[in-house]
Amino acid sequence: MNEHDSARIVDILKKSHGLKITLSPEEADVILFNTCSVRAKAEEKVFSDLGRVKHLKEKNPKLIIGVGGCVATQEAENIFRRAPYVSLVFGPQSIHRLSDLLEKAKRKKTMDINFTPVEKFDNLPAPEKDGPSAYISIMEGCNNFCSYCIVPYVRGRETSRSFSSILNEAKNLSEQGVKEIHLLGQNVNHYCGKKENGGSADLVDLLYALHDLPQIERIRFTTSHPGYFFDRLLEAYRDLPKLVNHLHLPVQSGSNRILKLMRRTYTREQYGEVIQKIKSVRPAINISSDFIVGFPSETLEDFEQTLSLADEIKFDHSFSFMYSPRPGTQAEKLKDDVPLKIKKMRLYTLHEKLLGFEKAISETMLNTSQKILVTSLDKKNSTLLSGRTENNRIVHFEGDKKLIGELVNVIITEILKNSLKGKLEK
Ligand code: SAH
Ligand code: SF4
Repeated sequence: MNEHDSARIVDILKKSHGLKITLSPEEADVILFNTCSVRAKAEEKVFSDLGRVKHLKEKNPKLIIGVGGCVATQEAENIFRRAPYVSLVFGPQSIHRLSDLLEKAKRKKTMDINFTPVEKFDNLPAPEKDGPSAYISIMEGCNNFCSYCIVPYVRGRETSRSFSSILNEAKNLSEQGVKEIHLLGQNVNHYCGKKENGGSADLVDLLYALHDLPQIERIRFTTSHPGYFFDRLLEAYRDLPKLVNHLHLPVQSGSNRILKLMRRTYTREQYGEVIQKIKSVRPAINISSDFIVGFPSETLEDFEQTLSLADEIKFDHSFSFMYSPRPGTQAEKLKDDVPLKIKKMRLYTLHEKLLGFEKAISETMLNTSQKILVTSLDKKNSTLLSGRTENNRIVHFEGDKKLIGELVNVIITEILKNSLKGKLEK
């Protein structure tokens, strides 16, 4: 979500201020940090990153240093107090006003952390193609209030973009050569967009409509919530071959006691049933997840439940995090009583287990033919092409660079640690 917002920020500044991206902070006129506050570590990083550019403002008083994203909403004026050389603070729902904000920030310290998400969607410039795969944000915010999570407080309540504006964006991108659409939202199962005829569309309506766009060959979505995985989505998995054989469905924990404390609205058994249903229509689908270890009061037994759920589902490439209390959340009131050493050990144990499953899934792909969306030249060896499988493996193979942007069939010939090697199928 943040990467997508960053791309929109760049679009706006290019169009309104004629600014260009530079990778060297020394030559920048504007330095913006787009931040994430979902975990404490991400938030602390902002202040250390800011410290690294402070001297540039001393050298060039006209330099504008700004902080955007969720830390901006969370910390607000506090950012000006901790880093007085910052001139602009803007929340994730204000990026469409950035052009005006930047002008103001040239004169005085400026802050905009208001929530007006629908207005944001209507006022962003039409995104331009940046490679054959594109993100489309379909909704903002979240109403779930999982007890550990800061998102509803910093991105606000759920608001869905209209059905036609999403379709138009997808059409526009597909006409520019985009082949893969990745729908984004914190809880895409709750998508409910207005249609022009006055009715409303849900995620499944959107998937069918995107599937009808001839140039679009792959569709993904993140993040969906296991508690709201409605049955019509199974029909989409049954009927829509362009919907990839990969689903990120974060479970967070395998312990029912912890799931309840997290306010996740499902049990591990219900999670397992959802996966069974999906596999009944898509037997070869790979499932990935997010996990939190060391949630307040998590015992060894609770953690072992998470390990056993991982054994049961055999997740593909997943993300695991140590719990960190976030300001204003319900879990912040619980005692953060799992010692750091234990959190680290649990994280390591889970991570190793998950890596094992990921490797085993990669191994089943050896000598099989895979559809690859060719994204670029290989960064390390420009005689090779680089692309992605449906389950997001990076594959390197020999081929003509004219294939960049196309979908091709590749036989997987070697499994490496972080990527695969292959050979174009004749
Ligand atoms: N909307 C998505 C998740 C968004 S946040 C969903 O519901 O799945 C991304 C991930 O960050 C979460 O899935 C969770 O695993 C992790 N996370 C969120 N808050 C956290 C916290 N306080 N401590 C540690 N990890 C956290
Ligand atoms: Fe956070 Fe839960 Fe909403 Fe995901 S569903 S963004 S974890 S509150």
